[in-house]
Amino acid sequence: KGSKFRLPIPDHLQLVLNSCNEDNPGKNADYIPELRDADSNRLGVAVSTVDGFVYTAGDVDIPFSIQSISKAFVYALAIEEHGLDYVLTRVGVEPSGEAFNELSLEQDTCRPLNPMINAGAITTHTLIGKADTSYEERFEKIRKGLSKFAGRELEVDENVYNSEMKHAFRNLAIANMLRNYNVFDLDPKKVVEGYTRQCAVLVTAKDLAVMAATLANTGIQPVTGEQVVRPQTVRQTLSVMMTCGMYDGAGDWVTKIGFPAKSGVAGGIIGALPGQVGISTFSPKLDKHGNSVRGVRICQRLSDDMGLHIMQQP
Ligand code: GLN
Repeated sequence: KGSKFRLPIPDHLQLVLNSCNEDNPGKNADYIPELRDADSNRLGVAVSTVDGFVYTAGDVDIPFSIQSISKAFVYALAIEEHGLDYVLTRVGVEPSGEAFNELSLEQDTCRPLNPMINAGAITTHTLIGKADTSYEERFEKIRKGLSKFAGRELEVDENVYNSEMKHAFRNLAIANMLRNYNVFDLDPKKVVEGYTRQCAVLVTAKDLAVMAATLANTGIQPVTGEQVVRPQTVRQTLSVMMTCGMYDGAGDWVTKIGFPAKSGVAGGIIGALPGQVGISTFSPKLDKHGNSVRGVRICQRLSDDMGLHIMQQP
């Protein structure tokens, strides 16, 4: 099962990095010291084919927190556990056009608009497990699930977790809003703790490329061969990434770059091309939407060079 385009040989990836590295605009996320003080010169790109070849250039072995990129995978795990119909009754699929941490709900249904903004992601987090699942068990299920996508055991950065909890006022407000509208009936503080641990899971750009390649490969992890989630689950997840993955930068992203993607505030981005490749980039400085500036550039360049825009004829 080969990819239909010219393979991204390491030389090519290094050229792409060089071409995106002339300047380094944007700003590290600064709401916690761990992200504010992260080395903003870091730059890496990894591409994993659906048959498990991983091509890399730059800083692809540096661990950083997965942050919002986890939202896509946990959404997939929730669908896998409860089925799409049920998950849709709890979280919508409409792009919000709002910032990722907006306090908003759909008017008639009181559902969060989509699983990629915090309100939807915090709700999706609660969908893992059953009514009697403890908060600890829920997180452990999520950590194990994310680890299956990565093909290795992932761990939490406790410093990032503790720092985030000291500044989690906005996510606590969102969780309290959700509890108020009976979107879930769990303890909002405990839910935010679990969600924040989920965001503090450490990954490298190499991990993320393989995780994305699992989505590109109908849910089969290309290295371990494990069917982590079903093809229908992947279709739903990639569709939501396509429309909502880059927050209020989603329209720009879809028109210019044109493949499903998800970003995180630590500077990671993943992209997935069904049947072809998983892509990841790492560069900590963010634009005003919270997407990595040089990460977006690299994806733009790869999309152009390799003809990855899904609206473009091969
Ligand atoms: N932990 C962050 C939050 O929930 C993640 C946000 C992000 O990566 N955009 O606010």
